[in-house]
Amino acid sequence: MVQMTDFRMTLKYEARDIAYAEQHRATELKRAITLLDERKAKLLTELDEAVSARARRDSYHPIIDDTYQCPVCWIKKSEQSPLVPSARSSDDDSYRCRLCEHEVIHEM
Ligand SMILES: [Zn+2]
Repeated sequence: MVQMTDFRMTLKYEARDIAYAEQHRATELKRAITLLDERKAKLLTELDEAVSARARRDSYHPIIDDTYQCPVCWIKKSEQSPLVPSARSSDDDSYRCRLCEHEVIHEM
């Protein structure tokens, strides 16, 4: 009878340990799902931007008020950003966007 009681306790302790381990696993799984949700939200935003980029292609104006405009900022973010001259090569005209750092070389 004493042995049976001990074995019942052994099984109870084992059940407790298994439950602890599952609780820990549940916490890790919740964390992993949260990270996936954040990643999914970021990808959906990028998808929206990529889908709407084609529509902005036709509304891109390379020059506004005699200033060249960054194609990256317009197509990707729908923002007007001037390209400013950045003298790197004496043979070519080089322009850089201050917002996204995109560089365009106008070969002479
Ligand atoms: Zn830009």
